[in-house]
Amino acid sequence: MVYANQALATLIDTPLDKILQQPFTQFVFATDLERVVGYYEARLRGEDVPNEYEFRMRSSHGHPIDIRINVGISIADDGTRTSIGTIKDLRETKRTMRDLARSQRDIESILNNMPDVFYRTDLQGLVTLMSPSCKEVLGYEADEMIGQPLANFYCTPAEREKILLAIQEGKGKARLVEACLKHKDGSKVWISTNAYMRADEDGKVIGVEGIARNISERKAMEDKLTTLARIDDLTQIYNRRFFYEEADKLLTVAHRYQRPVTLLMLDLDRFKQVNDTYGHRAGDELLIHFTQLCRSTIRETDIIGRTGGEEFAILLPETELGAAFQLAERIRAAVETNALRLDHVIVPYSVSIGVAVKDATEMHIEKLLSQADKALYEAKDAGRNRTRIYDDMPV
Ligand code: GH3
Ligand code: MG
Ligand code: MG
Repeated sequence: MVYANQALATLIDTPLDKILQQPFTQFVFATDLERVVGYYEARLRGEDVPNEYEFRMRSSHGHPIDIRINVGISIADDGTRTSIGTIKDLRETKRTMRDLARSQRDIESILNNMPDVFYRTDLQGLVTLMSPSCKEVLGYEADEMIGQPLANFYCTPAEREKILLAIQEGKGKARLVEACLKHKDGSKVWISTNAYMRADEDGKVIGVEGIARNISERKAMEDKLTTLARIDDLTQIYNRRFFYEEADKLLTVAHRYQRPVTLLMLDLDRFKQVNDTYGHRAGDELLIHFTQLCRSTIRETDIIGRTGGEEFAILLPETELGAAFQLAERIRAAVETNALRLDHVIVPYSVSIGVAVKDATEMHIEKLLSQADKALYEAKDAGRNRTRIYDDMPV
């Protein structure tokens, strides 16, 4: 070494007077020595070697120091060859790159192991990033989804619109929006998603990113609970509360379009006696038997509910009084001719029916039911096993 500046002395933590007059190789880290010497000798021979490359120098304590050297040869008039180089300290850069690689590995490990789906889309709504958990949730490999419109994976495009709208309304952030996706096998997958507008350094919007959690199990549970809250356990038809709800909806529509609607109220005759004679279990069987008879007689659009213990109601849309009466009589006759057959016994039974028709005024189900109930009372009073129409009665 015939010249070195203070910066080199500082870099390798060695005083200048310990550098000058020493062989350069003394300051090269052992494992890189062969390569550096190889280049050096080849360069002196005039061969073509890279004049810029990286290697590690050696500090006075023997520590490696990452550097990049840019080196050339100067030839004096007397033919003396001198290597001249500038050295750049790469330690900070290397450290940054190592840190970057580590945090990239951390992110990848999080993405690869989290059960939720992390995704990004560009401004066109095309998927640009998808975590591998999409396989578990949707049945697709991430590669099958990347580059595709994310909207394609929703049950309907409106489901994605819903999320975008929520982002807009949330000023760039949407929280816990529920939407329905399509699994590769065709089944529905419910997700709850947090989604954000993604911007570049200048604040320009470049797309959307979000995390979606599979909530299908919770949804299925909710559906089950909803059904349980609506359906009568024994007969599997609407319970009283839900019958009232549905009936009122239908009455509102019928009123708006001035369509005919009739209501049947059905009560099994002397049912207490059935229980007393054949047992409560037989009574239950009879209620199921009766429900099935009714369902096989009415139309898909008619609404049937169990409004009490052995009391039922059937709302008949698009049905005039005459047709309703005929239907009631068909049910009554079917009951009369189809006794319940249990293992060893035949349980004959009958039903009384009251019929009421919606008039031109707006009517709620309570009012229609109370009219049908009056007709039913008349039917019971007249000896049971018969149908009575509310209109028939003296005012
Ligand atoms: P009516 O002809 O006047 O209607 O006489 P009824 O005996 O049918 O009327 P009542 O209202 O006196 O008795 C109804 C009976 O229905 C009493 C009750 O024990 C029975 N019941 C109510 N719910 C159920 C049920 O879920 N299962 C069974 N097995 N019986 C029930
Ligand atoms: Mg009864
Ligand atoms: Mg009753």
